[in-house]
Amino acid sequence: MKHTLHLKFILGYIIFGLFSFLTVSLFVPRITREYLISEKAQNLYSEASLIADTYAEGLYSSRTTLETVTLQLDSLSVYMDADIRIISPEGIVILDTAATDQGGDSVAAVIPDFDPSVGGGSYYLIGDFFGSFDEQVISVICPIISDYRTKGYVTIHVSMDDIEAQCISLLNISYVTLIIMFLLSLIILIFFTRLVYLPLRKITKGAENYAEGNYHYEVNVESRDEMGYLAAALNYMAGKIADAEDDQKKFIANVSHDFRSPLTSIKGYLEAMLDGTIPPEMHEKYLGIVLNETERLTKLTNGLLSLNNLNTKGMHLDLTDFDINDIVRKVAETFEGTCRKKSIAIELVLMGDELLVHADKGRIEQIVYNLTDNAVKFSNNDSVIKIETAEKKNKIYVSVKDNGIGIPPEDVGMIFNRFYKSDASRGKDKKGTGLGLSIVKEILAAHDENINVISTPGEGSEFIFSLQPADPDEI
Ligand code: ADP
Repeated sequence: MKHTLHLKFILGYIIFGLFSFLTVSLFVPRITREYLISEKAQNLYSEASLIADTYAEGLYSSRTTLETVTLQLDSLSVYMDADIRIISPEGIVILDTAATDQGGDSVAAVIPDFDPSVGGGSYYLIGDFFGSFDEQVISVICPIISDYRTKGYVTIHVSMDDIEAQCISLLNISYVTLIIMFLLSLIILIFFTRLVYLPLRKITKGAENYAEGNYHYEVNVESRDEMGYLAAALNYMAGKIADAEDDQKKFIANVSHDFRSPLTSIKGYLEAMLDGTIPPEMHEKYLGIVLNETERLTKLTNGLLSLNNLNTKGMHLDLTDFDINDIVRKVAETFEGTCRKKSIAIELVLMGDELLVHADKGRIEQIVYNLTDNAVKFSNNDSVIKIETAEKKNKIYVSVKDNGIGIPPEDVGMIFNRFYKSDASRGKDKKGTGLGLSIVKEILAAHDENINVISTPGEGSEFIFSLQPADPDEI
C-alpha cells in the first residue's frame, strides 16, 4: 500500500519497454524486408532492361554471337552476384550464367511452366522461379523487343539470403538502439523518484504525524517547486494548529482555574455551615459570600459566552448611527448605586448635546460598561471618575479616567489578554474574571478601531478608544 505509486511507475516503465520491444520486433523486420526487396528489385530491373536493350537485342538482330553475349553477361553476373538468363517466350533457357559458371553446358534447359506475366502488376517475384532454383530468389523479368516483337526475356535472379542477412543486421541495430533508449529513459524514473516520489513520502509521513497530533514534526522538502510549496504550506498549517492547540490548552487551564476557586470556596462555606463549624447566626454573612461567588461564576460564564461569540470569524455587527453621549449617560446612571457606596463621583464631559457615531450600539454600550466597571472597581473611595467624549480629526474618542490604583508598567501590555488580572488588582477586585478588557479589544478590532491606556500606579488610569463618526450625509 505504501509504495504503490512507485510500483505503478516501475510497472508502467516495464510495460513501456515491452511494448517498444514488441513494436520493433513486429514491424521493423517487415518494413525493412519490404524496403530492401523493392530497392533490390528496382536495381535488378534496371539492369535487366539495360541487358535486354543492348546485349540481348544484339543477339536477336544477329549483330553479336551467343558466345560473346555469354562472356559479357558472365562477368556482369559475377559483379552483381546474380544469375542472369535469357529465356525464349516458350521457356527455353538460351543463356544461363549460372550454368556456364559451373562449367555446364550453356545450351538450353527448358522451364516447362514459364509464364512471363506471372508477376502480375509487380516487376519482381519471389520464389524458386518455376522450380528452377533450390532456394528462394528475387527474380525480375524484362522482355527483349526486336522488330516490335517480344523475342525473349532477360531474367535476373538474386538469392534471398543476402537480403535476409541485411534484414537481421538492421534489426540488430534497432534492438541496440531500443536498449539504449530504454536505459536512457531510466533517467525519467530517477527524476520521478527524486522529484515526486521521495518528497511525497516525506509529505505523507508529515501528514501522518500531524494526524497523530505531533504538530511539531517538520516536513523537510527543500525543492523550489510545487512539492516544496506543499511541504512549506503543511509546515505552516501544522505550526498554526500547534499554536491554536497551545492557546486552547492555556485557555482551558485558565477557565478551569477560575471556575475551581469560587467552587472550592462555595463548597467550603456550605460544608462548614452543614457540619456546624459556622454557627447558624453567622449563616447570613457566609451565604452572602457564597452568593457573591455564584455571581462571579455567572459573570465568568457570560464573559466566556460573549468572547466565544466575538471570536467567531466574521463577527456580525449591527451597525447604526447613534448618540454616544446618550450611551455614556445611561451607563453612568447604572453605576450610581455602587458609586454612592464608595463616595465616587462620575463626571461627564460630553461634546455637544448629541455626538453621533456609526457602530454596533449594543456592543459599544458593553465597552463603556466594562471600562466604567473597571474604573469603579479600581478607584479609591472619595475619588472622581471622568468620562469624556470628543471629536478630533474626523474620529470620535471616548475616554474613561479614574483616580485609582493604576496599572504597573510591566502589566500594561498584558491587561487585554484573556484572564489576565494584575496582582495589584486582586485585593480590590475579588470577582474579576480577567475577560472584560479582552472582550473590549475584540469588539473594537471587529470595528477596525483601537484602544489605548495611560496609567500611573497609585494615581489612576485612562482608557481611550476611537469610533467612526456617523456619516453626515446619512443623518
Ligand atoms: P476583570 O473583569 O477581572 O476586571 P479585565 O479584563 O477587565 O478583567 O481587566 C484585566 C486587569 O486589568 C484587571 O484585573 C486589572 O488588573 C487591570 N485593570 C483594568 N482596568 C483597570 C483600571 N481602571 N485600573 C487599574 N487596573 C485595571
